[in-house]
Amino acid sequence: MFLKPDYLIKGDITDIDIEMLAQAGIKGLILDLDSTLVEPHSAKLTPETEAWLERACQRFNVAIASNNKNEVYLDQIRNILTIQVVGRAAKPSRKAFHQLMSDFQLDAHQVAVIGDRPLTDIWGGYRAGMKTVLVQILKTQKEPAWKTKIRNLERVFIKGN
Ligand SMILES: [Mg+2]
Repeated sequence: MFLKPDYLIKGDITDIDIEMLAQAGIKGLILDLDSTLVEPHSAKLTPETEAWLERACQRFNVAIASNNKNEVYLDQIRNILTIQVVGRAAKPSRKAFHQLMSDFQLDAHQVAVIGDRPLTDIWGGYRAGMKTVLVQILKTQKEPAWKTKIRNLERVFIKGN
């Protein structure tokens, strides 16, 4: 079985063309947190991700759905962001996606899920009937080799455009 994200981005989140998504009829974005918007455990945005997020917020309804369960960390994130942050999302469960979609008052096809993990972010977004955008982890992020191996293994199931 293959998963085909609607958009397969060669770079990280900051390489997503906001205008292109708007032209495709997208009105809401649900972002993954760790490795997609911030480096895990960092609780801070780089100037590049901050600038991208600011532009995205001018164009779309934007919220975060994260599988992270660490409430202290999630609160640190809530303190630096002005958008809604849903933790314990249990993606690929559709629950958080449906909740945010109704908060946005949008239909599923008007919402894009953006994340770095095929089997949680992309699979969950697909199941919710949303558009899906698979990104690479943040350019600034360094991770141990074994993690990169697992990450690449998971991407075996991804079909390019
Ligand atoms: Mg992630």
